[in-house]
Amino acid sequence: MTDTKVYLLDGGTLVIDGFHAFWNRGPAGELRFPCYAVLIEHKDGRYIFDTGYDHAHVMRVLPFEKPLQTPEQTIPGALAKIGLKPTDINYVINSHYHFDHCGGNKHLSKACTVCHAKELEASTKHQPFEHLGYSDMTFAPQLAKQAGKALPPDEPALDMYTPKFETITGDQEIAKGLWLLETPGHTAGHYSLMVELKNRRPMLFTADACYSQKNMDMNCISSFHLDPTASLKSMHRLKALAEKHNAELFYSHDPDSFPNYVKAPGYYS
Ligand SMILES: [Zn+2]
Repeated sequence: MTDTKVYLLDGGTLVIDGFHAFWNRGPAGELRFPCYAVLIEHKDGRYIFDTGYDHAHVMRVLPFEKPLQTPEQTIPGALAKIGLKPTDINYVINSHYHFDHCGGNKHLSKACTVCHAKELEASTKHQPFEHLGYSDMTFAPQLAKQAGKALPPDEPALDMYTPKFETITGDQEIAKGLWLLETPGHTAGHYSLMVELKNRRPMLFTADACYSQKNMDMNCISSFHLDPTASLKSMHRLKALAEKHNAELFYSHDPDSFPNYVKAPGYYS
């Protein structure tokens, strides 16, 4: 049996305003922040938790977020750096379906997709103010077509991408030591991920239930949410979970913490 390894795949950066990053607190002004995917090599298979954003999508739909992404920061490019191909991935887990967390799904053509049942539903039946968040539907081309949602006009390969979905609810240990923990509020069916490892403390990936250490310290959520009260409660849940399991929190979009994380080809084990 091989021990579980965790690789962080750098996915480039985006820009939002400080008032969005720290809801009603700010300060205002451009804030550039990282996006990344988490690859877990587990004895049951290779899992990817979130897949970052697609540069062409952001340029087409949200160019004001000023994406900076090199070829090595795409999912195929990042996997190549550790000697893997997109078809080597067995499972994609999506914390939620905002464009900066599912943009690389379409490359992982052999993977089964795991997500919260409520989140898959929300991706096509969301509130009007969530429109831009759920603007990249390439993770589920068939679903997008059924719902009349736009797909990129110039990507015929999407017709061949027909992922299988496994939807779940509640907290679930989906494989030994891989825990999906419900943290709704940012979106309807948001999951955070805890990974137990042999040689270190558990890693608790907050996803967008908490963008950064500063959000946690200020007790301040981001402005992108379905339900702010639930969102704040989920952030408090993450803090309590980290204490209970002696886990280290890894934030989704933290320009201060990210430089200190070990990035692929390095890994945690
Ligand atoms: Zn999000």
